[in-house]
Amino acid sequence: MNIVNDHFCTWINNLSSRINTQSVKGIIECDFVIIGAGITGLSAARKLGELNKNHNIYLVDAQIAGEGASSRNSGFLVDTTLNDGFTSDTDLENYKKKTDIYKLGIEAVKKFMQEYQVDCDLNECGKYYASSKISDLKILENFSKILSKLNHQNHLLFKNDLKKELGTNFYNVGLYTKGGILLNPAKLVRAMINALPNNVKLFENSFLINWKIHNGQIVCKFKNGIIKSKKIIFATNGFLKSLGIKKNYNFPLTLTASMTRPLTNKEYSDIGSPKEWGVLSVRPMGATVRMTKDKRILIRNTAEVSNPFKMTKLELDKRAAIQKIGIKKRFPQLPDDIIESTWSGIVSRTRNSSQIFEKLDDNVFVAGCYNGSGIGVGTLFGEQIAIKAFNETSEEIKIIEKKKKPTWLPPTFFLDIGVKTRLMYERLRSRSDI
Ligand SMILES: Cc1cc2nc3c(=O)[nH]c(=O)nc-3n(C[C@H](O)[C@H](O)[C@H](O)COP(=O)(O)OP(=O)(O)OC[C@H]3O[C@@H](n4cnc5c(N)ncnc54)[C@H](O)[C@@H]3O)c2cc1C
Repeated sequence: MNIVNDHFCTWINNLSSRINTQSVKGIIECDFVIIGAGITGLSAARKLGELNKNHNIYLVDAQIAGEGASSRNSGFLVDTTLNDGFTSDTDLENYKKKTDIYKLGIEAVKKFMQEYQVDCDLNECGKYYASSKISDLKILENFSKILSKLNHQNHLLFKNDLKKELGTNFYNVGLYTKGGILLNPAKLVRAMINALPNNVKLFENSFLINWKIHNGQIVCKFKNGIIKSKKIIFATNGFLKSLGIKKNYNFPLTLTASMTRPLTNKEYSDIGSPKEWGVLSVRPMGATVRMTKDKRILIRNTAEVSNPFKMTKLELDKRAAIQKIGIKKRFPQLPDDIIESTWSGIVSRTRNSSQIFEKLDDNVFVAGCYNGSGIGVGTLFGEQIAIKAFNETSEEIKIIEKKKKPTWLPPTFFLDIGVKTRLMYERLRSRSDI
């Protein structure tokens, strides 16, 4: 098995290609090895490198660093979520614990950006939860009450306002929340790679085949080499299960998204020249849609149980067709051939949508499973798991560890059936908003 780099995602294609990459060769030793160079692994490596400049840190990825889900997401840096998993968040105290973590995540991203002078098209424009179904007003009214109790500014909107603000008359009801942020994920991740301290060595195109603890040392096997390390951090998110990490507590989901070319001035003015915006669906399987800074439309409207190591071009084309319909429903006036790229990405879920942040053994640590909030929470968890692996603690760790732990999942066969049935049910309920 391996994870293949593809060139399907516009966010990544718009950056310069990474050059002079190195892969693991021979037998090498270090103090810390981090597996996975997405937002979590990059944040962990940066923090570890800062904590002790004399430590030798290896950061390893199966593909080009950062080019997994971390650079191919929809770019919502969220302060709240409505559909974070398969359970509803009616319990205010638990929801507050969740939003406390999102808040710390936003602060971690902003602090990183400020410290390293990062430009990743960050726009604090808030976000919308919107639906074409007027009957979803009830859900939004309830959610609005919860948000107000937690002091998140928000207001309800209806068709005409939504049309004015989004340029589409597809949505009938919506809730605007002031706190959401939009950004370009690939630019953020590239900045994280550039910010790696000197004592962090990055190895790419190096797939971890297996690992073991031998005489108190961590031994990691790759195709062309072995890394021996004192401690290890797993930051492989959607691939945790395939490495046997917390395998009864998380499972991968494959998401696909499409992005259009930039709209022409005429196309843009025909839809009312709206400012940059982002819409999250009211229903779990509905579409996430964005108007980007450079006037492209991004849509993510599939989530499924699939082989995380492979989605063929043919399978991707079928998802692109679903995304084309999604764009057409919202912007019927735009041409049919407007999609520029379609890509897939792997995320990790837990049964109760709680994240994983744990010491698994004396020298083994893991952080992951953020559902739809990995930009902020991944940055936070990466930094904090580094602090934990360094045998220190922080106020953030105390807050993170107050959250519910992920709950146990049934064996894969039953899990697959359960998740597929649930996704099918949610897809049916969301079908108007895909
Ligand atoms: C289409 C899509 C839209 C999304 N939208 C949003 C959004 O709007 N907002 C948000 O906050 N989140 C969103 N997410 C989720 C977010 O992208 C993830 O939560 C986040 O990227 C997780 O970061 P990570 O570093 O933990 O994992 P990843 O970015 O998945 O990084 C893990 C890395 O581990 C590597 N790896 C795996 N197995 C091995 C191995 N055996 N050996 C070596 N390396 C290995 C992989 O190559 C990968 O680079 C979205 C995800 C997708 C796919």
